[in-house]
Amino acid sequence: MSDKRTEIAELGEFGLIDKIQANARVRSATTLKAIGDDAAVIKNDNSRLTLLSSDMLLEGVHFDLSYVPLHHLGYKSVAANVSDIAAMNGVPKQILVNVGLSNRFSVEAVEALYQGINAACESYNIDLVGGDTTSSASGLVLSVTIYGEVDEEKVAYRSGASKNQILCVSGDLGGALIGLQVLEREKEVFLTNPEMEPQLDDYQYIVQRQLKPEARMDIVHELAELQVVPTAMIDVSDGLASEIFHLCKHSEAGVRIYEDKLPIDKQTYDTAVEFKLDPITSVLNGGEDYELLFTISQDDFAKLEKHPDIHFIGEVLSKDDGASIVTKGGNSVPLQAQGWKHFNV
Ligand code: ADP
Ligand code: MG
Repeated sequence: MSDKRTEIAELGEFGLIDKIQANARVRSATTLKAIGDDAAVIKNDNSRLTLLSSDMLLEGVHFDLSYVPLHHLGYKSVAANVSDIAAMNGVPKQILVNVGLSNRFSVEAVEALYQGINAACESYNIDLVGGDTTSSASGLVLSVTIYGEVDEEKVAYRSGASKNQILCVSGDLGGALIGLQVLEREKEVFLTNPEMEPQLDDYQYIVQRQLKPEARMDIVHELAELQVVPTAMIDVSDGLASEIFHLCKHSEAGVRIYEDKLPIDKQTYDTAVEFKLDPITSVLNGGEDYELLFTISQDDFAKLEKHPDIHFIGEVLSKDDGASIVTKGGNSVPLQAQGWKHFNV
């Protein structure tokens, strides 16, 4: 290590990962994909590939326990990992869970956390097979590692998109971000006046999008039933625009999306307006929706055309075309990504 000091904020999360990746040599021929996709891909002796992915959640950075119940946190930590397996078009099988606990946490609190973890294992049909438990000097630390599998011919990397293919996204976007605004507001209200009951009735859908997101394994299974293999796929954890840039970078392609095709729920839209936020910016830059963004060949369009929860938001272009969005007014403007930045850049 040299004496030079560079602030992490200068590089940002993705720049830092690029640096780690540049210095990590792949030694084993069975490592088909190391750092850089939603999950690592490892070849076995048979035609099933192994998928591995890991995510860490820190109190005060990723969650605030003043409005996140521990069982929801447990559920979400598993769902976020399942989502990375879904993004490879794979099926999750087992998880390892590591927890760091400060002495603020009781046995009952840990039980509540694991109630959520176990509920997620039940709904995604996976097994909790181990982990590690340690004390922590700074609140709750939670890390989940997931193992999944995918058929060799079905694996969907970020790198497979090519010109003229169709860009699709599942579900609706921006809800988790706007749900977070509601929870933050209620926290402020509570801090100024603890007698006030939280007013969440009108915001149930978006609060649930924030507190209890689901990984879209249903979409993975439906694509399999319809015999559609996405040419590229990524999950929307950092915001649509940021994920589009990842797809473009890894696929060496450009993309054009259409504002009027972006899926947004009415409650997300109305609440964004209430918070004086631009609904489309929330759709493009809101994190934690855990929907799937993928590309399909034109030939597969007819198979998905009538699917109620898959939206065709744009098309893949050449790399030189870059990434752009066509506004409702018909203007084409370059796409901007903010993403979720934990390093305050
Ligand atoms: P996602 O949002 O899909 O979880 P990330 O942006 O966190 O993906 O990570 C992108 C890639 O970088 C993944 O392949 C991940 O495994 C890898 N990665 C992230 N952090 C590290 C690290 N500290 N060391 C090695 N690889 C990392
Ligand atoms: Mg991912």
